[in-house]
Amino acid sequence: SQSTRPLADRSPEEIEAFLAEQRAAHADLAARGLTLDLTRGKPSSAQLDLSDRLLALPEGHVDADGVDTRNYGGLHGLRELREIFAELLWIEPEQLVAGGSSSLVMMREVLVDLLLKGGVDSERPWSAEEKVTFICPVPGYDRHFTLLEWLGIETVTVPMLETGPDVDAVAEIAAADPSVKGIWIVPTYANPTGSVVTQEVAERLASMPTAAPDFKIFWDNAYAFHHLTEDEAKSADILSLASAAGHPHRPIMFASTSKITYAGAGVAFVGGSVETVQWYVGHLGQGSIGPDKLNQLRHAQFFGSAQGVRDHMVRHREVIGPKFAEVQRVLEERLGGLGVATWTEPTGGYFVSLDVLDGTASRVIALAKQAGIALTPAGSAFPHSDDPRDRNIRLAPTFPPLEQVTAAMEAVTTCVLLAAAEKLHG
Ligand code: PLP
Repeated sequence: SQSTRPLADRSPEEIEAFLAEQRAAHADLAARGLTLDLTRGKPSSAQLDLSDRLLALPEGHVDADGVDTRNYGGLHGLRELREIFAELLWIEPEQLVAGGSSSLVMMREVLVDLLLKGGVDSERPWSAEEKVTFICPVPGYDRHFTLLEWLGIETVTVPMLETGPDVDAVAEIAAADPSVKGIWIVPTYANPTGSVVTQEVAERLASMPTAAPDFKIFWDNAYAFHHLTEDEAKSADILSLASAAGHPHRPIMFASTSKITYAGAGVAFVGGSVETVQWYVGHLGQGSIGPDKLNQLRHAQFFGSAQGVRDHMVRHREVIGPKFAEVQRVLEERLGGLGVATWTEPTGGYFVSLDVLDGTASRVIALAKQAGIALTPAGSAFPHSDDPRDRNIRLAPTFPPLEQVTAAMEAVTTCVLLAAAEKLHG
């Protein structure tokens, strides 16, 4: 039909008319004085409410080993909570540390420790190298990239595909350059693409030859259990794969309950080989005598078991699933067939990644701002905020109520259409 014919196939007169229509639609939108926000990958208050039983816990203050959790000590974190998450992450409890509320803090700690001290398999501290480089699959998580920039670590990008990072490109870069010390991977429902690393890609990452002997995979499993459908993706068992390939210290795993219980008062985890865990805890002990074990105890009591975590995630899915469905509905209805955008259909995680016509992402974001819709700044999902094609926009629908997701998405699609019409009109 007329309304779904690709814009690129239309005559100059038709584009002219289409442009006029979208300008009018955008002016109407701007006149409505909306204030909407799709930037925040945060749980909504309805999601936080799901965990409010935590506020009445823990019952008592003694853990399963008889330790008084009110006191100092226990750098590895509470055993009963580590057992629950070790089962979910398919590792042994000895391979997992439970700490404070933020896994991002742990990523920073690990990077700083690597720079100042070197890893268990390093010849020298990374800071003693002429240069340190990380492979960054893009689009990816902005804070991974800003952390590297802050530490003076160089970045080299590879495309993020539906199956994980472009592993041929990764293997080539890692084999060629000894300054390449690591890679960021969000293996399950990646931020922002929703990609899930396949078993084959994980095997390659675990076994590929690397020029640096102490190459690290930062396996950030922030969304490991955050399914949006009943088709629950299973994260590859990276530690076993790396061990079997003779690189047991290569992966360092991160996870947290930020999007399971409370983003501001959850529990974060770091895992790896037993030697890696000892290495981490050794450095941690220079600045801590123990974590908040009362918070860990109430989490252990709240979940009860690994199955308790899985059951809890179903309740999250019931809250956020309809919001993701709404994003898909509006995108398909308003942009489908027009050839002006492609987008991901994630089966888990917190984001939808929208690619608009090359060179129009920053224009779309500016047009949205004029209409009162906050979108993540252009380029955010790339190191140095540099999206070379200026086409990627990250959408985060979990925080706003459903009706605001609808209104914001309708507005965003108007901006996408207007920017596309402007570009094709020239
Ligand atoms: N890793 C990824 C991929 C994320 O998207 C986020 C939050 O958005 C985090 C880590 C932050 O985790 P935490 O709350 O445990 O610091």
